[in-house]
Amino acid sequence: MRLSRYYLPVLKETPSEAQIASHRLMLRAGMIRQEGAGIYAWLPLGFRVLKKIEQIVREEQDRAGAAEMLMPTIQQADLWRESGRYDAYGKEMLRITDRADREMLFGPTNEEMITEIFRAGVRSYKDLPKILYHIQWKFRDEIRPRFGVMRGREFLMKDSYSFDIDEESARKSYYKMFVAYLRTFARLGVKAIPMRADTGPIGGDLSHEFIVLAETGESAVFCDKRLVEMDTPKKDVDFDGDLKPIFDQFTSLYAATDEMHDKSEFDSVDQKHQVSARGIEVGHIFFFGEKYSKPMKAVVAGSDGSEIPVQMGSYGVGVSRLMGAIIEAYHDENGCKWPMPVAPYHVGLVNLRSGDEDCDAACDKIYKELTSKGVEVLYDDTGGRPGEKFARMDLIGLPYQLVIGPRGIKSGEAEVKNRTTDERETIAIDKVTEIISGRVADALDYA
Ligand code: ATP
Ligand code: MG
Repeated sequence: MRLSRYYLPVLKETPSEAQIASHRLMLRAGMIRQEGAGIYAWLPLGFRVLKKIEQIVREEQDRAGAAEMLMPTIQQADLWRESGRYDAYGKEMLRITDRADREMLFGPTNEEMITEIFRAGVRSYKDLPKILYHIQWKFRDEIRPRFGVMRGREFLMKDSYSFDIDEESARKSYYKMFVAYLRTFARLGVKAIPMRADTGPIGGDLSHEFIVLAETGESAVFCDKRLVEMDTPKKDVDFDGDLKPIFDQFTSLYAATDEMHDKSEFDSVDQKHQVSARGIEVGHIFFFGEKYSKPMKAVVAGSDGSEIPVQMGSYGVGVSRLMGAIIEAYHDENGCKWPMPVAPYHVGLVNLRSGDEDCDAACDKIYKELTSKGVEVLYDDTGGRPGEKFARMDLIGLPYQLVIGPRGIKSGEAEVKNRTTDERETIAIDKVTEIISGRVADALDYA
């Protein structure tokens, strides 16, 4: 993409309403624009990151055997009356009436709707297990929307729902999502630690929040440091195999959110391993059994013909919140430092003297070559002072900056800056596309 044709409204001043780095940087780098309290437009640069996060989440859901679908944002109140949540949900639910005075709502989540869809199409235990998911905008009328996309009112969530014949099988579905989440967050470049979370009135031990440690996080959390250092399962995960050992490994050490914190248990962790910190909740998984299937009569015929309410779980990822969490983990005072898999572009190509015949020719050639190798390039072909161009590139934080100017053209060299380390090197112009495209490919190779 040529910057001259792009829409990148960067801000010089720091917006005063933004209290944390990710919010400030998303506004300053022209990634989002506030359209109302907790409601944002995704500008071109921010939208690309959002789509990349979404795609990684999707790939890992698919790998785990979940089936993607799409449910509407607008739901009927009557559906929520079946579960009893229409009255229970309170003011967080945005309630709407249509022209016929029918009560509707903008969905804050989809347990009721998926249960209704499931019961219409599944009859027998032989059709189980199933995991269905969608990635859709939610609306929750939060009392205090803040920190930009971290706590929005309109936000993008991936929510999955599992259906099983009994608890033993439901646990297996839960392990699948647990491991899929470990992989998802690792691919996104963030360390999200599964922590014991409140299961509410249902009880049991099957609810975890995935927490990214960050000083600006809203939750107080406690965990064993060795969990932070634990390696995420990579290549060899077999989602048809036994995933309990991985689940056990990641839940054997102490990790709990504030509500579930057990001080005496934490005290028994060796002091040198104790971490008490703040964190951002980027995912939440939950086994809730018959909570919806029973009142909503989502039953299947068991092997003896009797009607059995299905055992359900739900599994959420905050797709738009993750963007804030990733920036919190990767930035400096000059701007973002995107990990390659979610970077809006892989390379920023800077033409230091746009309009100069030789500079333009060299840059155009590099731009074409990189693009044809699948590298995503934002090509700064605009006029303007070098200082302004460098500052803008640092702010938007693409992993590599490739700088071409008249001096480099003479010596046959391009200057390359790695934004993650801020290290600079010079590379021969005729080698630069090969070298940089190779590094980009290596950095993207995870699966
Ligand atoms: P929180 O405790 O932060 O309010 P929640 O427990 O209400 O979140 P869930 O219902 O578990 O959230 O939703 C699943 C995921 O959706 C959360 O883990 C979080 O990442 C994301 N999420 C929830 N509320 C918001 C919001 N207001 N803005 C952005 N993301 C959100
Ligand atoms: Mg939660």
